[in-house]
Amino acid sequence: MSWTISENSFWGPLDPAADAGYPEDRPKRKGFFTDTSICIGCKACEVACKEWNDVPSDHFDMTGTSYDNSHSLNANQWRHVAFIEQPKRLVTEGAGQDTGLRGTVDLGMPTVPPTGAPEQLANGADDRPDFRWLMSSDVCKHCTHAACLDVCPTGSLFRTEFGTVVVQDDICNGCGYCVPACPYGVIERRKAPDGAKNVGIAQKCTLCYDRLDAGKTPACAQACPTQSIQYGDVEELRERANKRVEQLHDAGIMDARLYGNDPEDGVGGTGAFFLLLDEPEVYGFPPDPVVTTKDLPDMYKRAIAAAGTLLAGAALAFVGRRG
Ligand code: SF4
Ligand code: SF4
Repeated sequence: MSWTISENSFWGPLDPAADAGYPEDRPKRKGFFTDTSICIGCKACEVACKEWNDVPSDHFDMTGTSYDNSHSLNANQWRHVAFIEQPKRLVTEGAGQDTGLRGTVDLGMPTVPPTGAPEQLANGADDRPDFRWLMSSDVCKHCTHAACLDVCPTGSLFRTEFGTVVVQDDICNGCGYCVPACPYGVIERRKAPDGAKNVGIAQKCTLCYDRLDAGKTPACAQACPTQSIQYGDVEELRERANKRVEQLHDAGIMDARLYGNDPEDGVGGTGAFFLLLDEPEVYGFPPDPVVTTKDLPDMYKRAIAAAGTLLAGAALAFVGRRG
């Protein structure tokens, strides 16, 4: 296997599998496009992930602030569907001046018929609550430049031939360096439940590496009934995502935007990216994630400048003493 170091090896756009030295005949980079506009919050993806990957059940209880009972991504939750209750209706731009309801767009979300007094309904009014649900199935982003992998001292985290990032349970020593390195807060060491396998070991989504190896679709994408989670070649998924945003903009949903699809962003783009209907922070995503290696050139420059200054100072002191 040959190792190639390009000028973008620590940041910027590149093919991560090629950068890791996989040969020309490697498979195309694989990933997820999650279209949150058609997620219905059924959590089939969470269940399928647990079933296939034998991820233990732990800490299922209601938060008191949402119908979500699985809280966040963690070592025992490799997929997490966020339920965000927002005091805002999905209204298309320029439509429905009176009640807002005429401007709503059917995205396939579950709904209830309008209720209220007949005279109110005849006037176009109803008493539906003035809020919307945003649902989004989160996962490891399989970053182009993966900080978790960069800091792993044992080589337990590795880049696969599909361009994804996978933990080898039997090589991880549980040092936990990867945990604070991840700019998305995805990877975590398993702490519970008692008796579960891999307690103490870093855990996260593998993009179902074993299924990919067998030519199958990852379990979550296979189980998603609305195709909110789409699996495939990253390049093709990016095109599909751009078209979907255009389609939503044409329908007047100007809030639709992509997150993680830009190879020029702070992690070189992600292998798992999202279509959102609001700012990333609303979904709990960092707005501008950056892999620490992106700062390496500046750090090297400063270290070289500091070393140069020290050497110059030492030389001046030496010359001064001789004079
Ligand atoms: S999201 Fe975090 S855990 Fe996943 S590849 Fe990126 S740095 Fe690693
Ligand atoms: S399976 Fe699909 S629709 Fe159901 S919660 Fe997951 S992403 Fe949403």
